[in-house]
Amino acid sequence: MIQSANDIVCDTVVQANICIVGGGPAGITLALELAKTGKSILLLESGGEMPSADTQALNAGEVADERLHSPPDRYRQRVLGGGTSIWGGRCVPFDPIDFNNRPWIDHSGWPISYDEVERHYAAANTWCEAGEYEYDARLATPGGMRPVLRGFAPLHFDTNGIERFSCPTNFGDRYRARLRSAPNVRVLLSATVTRLRAARDGSRIDSVDVRATQDNSFSVTADQFVLAMGGMETPRLLLTSDDVHAGGIGNANDLVGRFYMCHIAGTIGSLRVNGASDAVWHGYDLAADGTYCRRRIALRPTAQASMGLGNAVFRLHHPRIADPRHGTGPLSAIFLAQRFISYEYAKRLVSDVPPSYRTWLRHGMNAVIDSPSTARFLFHWLKARTLADRKFPSVIIRPRTNLFSLDFHAEQVPNPDSRIGLGSGVDRFGNRQIRVDWRYGRQDVETVAKSFDLLSQELADQSIGRLSLASDEIDIETVVRRDGAYGGHHIGTARMGSGARSGVVDRDCKVFGVNNLYVAGSSTFPTSSQANPTLTIVAMAVRLAKHLGRVVTQVPSIQEAVS
Ligand SMILES: Cc1cc2nc3c(=O)[nH]c(=O)nc-3n(C[C@H](O)[C@H](O)[C@H](O)COP(=O)(O)OP(=O)(O)OC[C@H]3O[C@@H](n4cnc5c(N)ncnc54)[C@H](O)[C@@H]3O)c2cc1C
Repeated sequence: MIQSANDIVCDTVVQANICIVGGGPAGITLALELAKTGKSILLLESGGEMPSADTQALNAGEVADERLHSPPDRYRQRVLGGGTSIWGGRCVPFDPIDFNNRPWIDHSGWPISYDEVERHYAAANTWCEAGEYEYDARLATPGGMRPVLRGFAPLHFDTNGIERFSCPTNFGDRYRARLRSAPNVRVLLSATVTRLRAARDGSRIDSVDVRATQDNSFSVTADQFVLAMGGMETPRLLLTSDDVHAGGIGNANDLVGRFYMCHIAGTIGSLRVNGASDAVWHGYDLAADGTYCRRRIALRPTAQASMGLGNAVFRLHHPRIADPRHGTGPLSAIFLAQRFISYEYAKRLVSDVPPSYRTWLRHGMNAVIDSPSTARFLFHWLKARTLADRKFPSVIIRPRTNLFSLDFHAEQVPNPDSRIGLGSGVDRFGNRQIRVDWRYGRQDVETVAKSFDLLSQELADQSIGRLSLASDEIDIETVVRRDGAYGGHHIGTARMGSGARSGVVDRDCKVFGVNNLYVAGSSTFPTSSQANPTLTIVAMAVRLAKHLGRVVTQVPSIQEAVS
């Protein structure tokens, strides 16, 4: 059943066995997996079925350095489906090394093993509609995938790992009918949780306060509560709920909101490939089931260990769109159309220097002079992206000169000073907004810088091509600062630890010291990996559902115990 919280009578107490807060991919996966237990599941989602400016305003907040991090109401969506209403659909599992305690990375190491997550990736692939769980380029498509650079056999990089693409599936749209028809699942939309109410001794959550958009308020009691509100709102609610736990729930050791990681990612350098243009393949291959798959150039674990680096991947990319010297019509057409592209996707198209009149003119000339390829590109985009159910994942354009750039996506290492805290502004329910103080460190820059140099060396040694920084790139740190925190990936703010001194949640994602409060989502990840987070968020949600399924069948519910 799906209802609006505006229909709940003021001051009512709504009951459920399990209450999940947040209807993004984590919350929806949990709700539908837990439906199998037969227990009553209540999903509270702040947004509605469609985005609304009033609800989206609840995501607003402050940013310490706006050159490095986007405003918090960007890259987040208050709507059923959460971030998947605008995500790119790139699905990549974490690597075994991500779970290790790596002596060269402070605060690394998960209290659970890779295997404990890996066994849920197949289910996560299904939820994300990313095809079968096969991430090896030699096996993922019929006959194997084409090499990125023909003849390139690097020592320190693996080119056989791939990323697979979801439709991209909007969890709100795709699973709405199942949420509606599951007899024991009740979804309340426009239901913003404003406070967690702990028992007097702090050992459990008795209830949560909820406000609807029309300002009626009510509370929810449940045996178990799960926060699945994304990596910024989860710490906000924990910190805000400070009436029993001074300083906020789970925050006895001042860890909530700390270790905030995004990814260090962007577009870098200039790669001139030797030889024929058909020696390069930077596009997608199709799996038998129609899933788009793409190879990456991944820094091997041995190289990470020997050079003291984080995890990182590179992808071959077209030249940077903003620079008209690429002379490529379709790229210039995208540049010219930037005002029609959403903030989240346009941000990386524009340069930090406002384009001059001459730049606009040169882009215009590119689009006209190269009009046959511009027209071909627009037709392909309309057919394979706009009108397709499974959408072509990104702009792939073969540059006219064999000149490419590199997309990089690197791990950001955990740093306690990088944090989400409470700011001075308040939202319309009177709750303090968040303050984002995202910081990168020396090791983050080195991961990109040293792996870039290593790749450049291997490409030169094997006479594949010449990779260098682009003419306007002074050094790698300038590039890291130019691209800033990767939007949409909010990691580590309620980290999993082996004890309360090192984490907010335990290996079962339960908040230390609070018996019935769990967290789902990337806020629990102690480290960020090279991988985009959602596949692992969903795998961890499946894992949590299995744990909670055991908990609710073993422990009598409060209602059962009373009767
Ligand atoms: C432009 C963009 C592109 C992306 N591309 C990719 C990609 O290609 N691959 C990838 O892996 N990831 C990608 N992501 C990230 C992905 O969207 C997130 O990892 C994912 O949505 C997180 O899921 P979640 O359920 O943990 O949180 P969310 O999706 O943020 O969902 C949280 C939900 O909780 C609700 N909520 C918040 N506060 C409250 C409250 N107080 N009470 C009730 N409900 C509340 C919100 O309204 C929201 O619906 C992208 C993100 C963006 C923005």
